Amino acid sequence: MNIEAVEILIVGAGPAGSVAAALLRQQGRQVLVIEREQFPRFSIGESLLPQSMAYLEQAGMLQAVVEAGFQFKNGAAFMRNGRYTDFDFRDKHSAGWGTTYQVQRADFDHILAKEAERFGAEVRYRHEVLNIELGTKGVPALVTVKRADGEQYQVRAGFILDASGFGRVLPRLLKLETPSNFPVRGAIFTHIADGIHGGDFDRTKIRVTVHPQHCDVWFWTIPFAGGRCSLGVVAETSFLDRYQGSATERLQAIVAEEPSLSALLAHARWDTPARQIVGYSANVDKLWGEGYALLGNAGEFLDPVFSSGVTIAFKSASLAAAVLERQFAGEQVDWQADFGAPLRKGVDTFRAFVESWYAGGFQTIIFHENQQPEVKRMISAILAGYAWDLSNPFVKETSRRLAALEAVCAQG
Ligand SMILES: Cc1cc2nc3c(=O)[nH]c(=O)nc-3n(C[C@H](O)[C@H](O)[C@H](O)COP(=O)(O)OP(=O)(O)OC[C@H]3O[C@@H](n4cnc5c(N)ncnc54)[C@H](O)[C@@H]3O)c2cc1C
Repeated sequence: MNIEAVEILIVGAGPAGSVAAALLRQQGRQVLVIEREQFPRFSIGESLLPQSMAYLEQAGMLQAVVEAGFQFKNGAAFMRNGRYTDFDFRDKHSAGWGTTYQVQRADFDHILAKEAERFGAEVRYRHEVLNIELGTKGVPALVTVKRADGEQYQVRAGFILDASGFGRVLPRLLKLETPSNFPVRGAIFTHIADGIHGGDFDRTKIRVTVHPQHCDVWFWTIPFAGGRCSLGVVAETSFLDRYQGSATERLQAIVAEEPSLSALLAHARWDTPARQIVGYSANVDKLWGEGYALLGNAGEFLDPVFSSGVTIAFKSASLAAAVLERQFAGEQVDWQADFGAPLRKGVDTFRAFVESWYAGGFQTIIFHENQQPEVKRMISAILAGYAWDLSNPFVKETSRRLAALEAVCAQG
């Protein structure tokens, strides 16, 4: 049998896969992307961070995203028991983009995948990667793919980028998965015609609303262009399981417990059945190995609270493409020093923020009445996605800085 051969095979055409494909094509590499679904397809993860704009720019995709007319975003707002605070990402410690978009992922991901094709990547939709036998010592990997009609074929690939998201193809095959140290949480979410007219609702910001009785239960409202919103609740699964009925009924019941949110959505039209996703936090013991690297969610997923997922996916694609450029040029490369370690650095910054959010400390900080402007700008930079900027003390010593600030805020 004649087995086709490619330089780089990417599993999945989500944000990580498409950006990696575009960057590698711009280096002149031959890229094949295998995508299980037909695009456009639904995906959760709709609020981008300004840091992600730099990667869209680097991949040559920014114009297509700007022209799509998504909802402009310039910050994040938080609400707890009637108390409101917000961050304007244009006022931040780190240099770089201060604005971005809130996107319907079906459209956004499709645009990115089409951009990757425009740069010459081949994307095969409704083809699913079933198995990958990695080669050693420069021998290509052998990838088994299933087409939509059920037929299987094989591809030899010089390098594999696993960007399969929660599909986590290589982590499962290579048994790289390690348990997340977060409790098992889930989310129930939908899109609504939000019916919000005027008032003080800022459509240019994601709004995170804390449940009045449970500080570890929170809602997102992510306004889209055209009077629609993404709405979701995140909680430990034991909390979500207390509610009966369809996913929509359960989400409505939990929303009804939060007065400001139920008032905000009083005229909403719930026209889309809600969905539930549980146990999404995941980790791996290594992010790369001989002949492969894990991108985006295929490597690690923390938590949705700070909307960091797509930014981390883009960052991983950008780092991997840079290492591959040098590797294909015949240079000796160090995947740990140039990919694994720097990627983890930003992920760990977000991890410390997520831990502090659920423990309550970060909420003590942001709802504190007297916020020092310079400290607020440092936090704003991280919420805007600049989690790799070592000039920010909250990146350099994240946990220590957060703990110290929490202690000060708790006193006064
Ligand atoms: C409740 C919730 C809310 C979130 N909110 C946000 C947010 O507001 N902002 C944000 O930035 N992030 C958010 N995220 C995270 C975000 O969804 C992800 O981090 C992001 O989609 C990761 O992109 P990716 O390219 O790694 O994977 P994905 O977007 O999941 O893409 C992976 C692709 O691989 C394909 N695939 C899977 N298996 C195979 C296979 N075997 N063969 C071929 N193709 C395959 C899939 O079909 C898919 O298209 C949220 C996540 C959750 C769970």
